[in-house]
Amino acid sequence: MTDVIDRAGTLEQWQREAAIQAARASPKTPQQVVIDGVIVCARCWQPIPQARLKTVPDAALCVPCKSLQEQP
Ligand SMILES: [Zn+2]
Repeated sequence: MTDVIDRAGTLEQWQREAAIQAARASPKTPQQVVIDGVIVCARCWQPIPQARLKTVPDAALCVPCKSLQEQP
């Protein structure tokens, strides 16, 4: 039970830090959000897969969020 609470607390902290960093960044050109050395999506806060970072090293959004952003 403690593990679940610990993980929830860590996730909450991650999301708070990500939200602060994302809010500071320009909404049109999101900056990479790095939390504990992990690059996370500036929109959904999920870690960006290494494969995507290999292809797009400065990617600030995961593929689904990037697709949503590019829709009119
Ligand atoms: Zn995302």
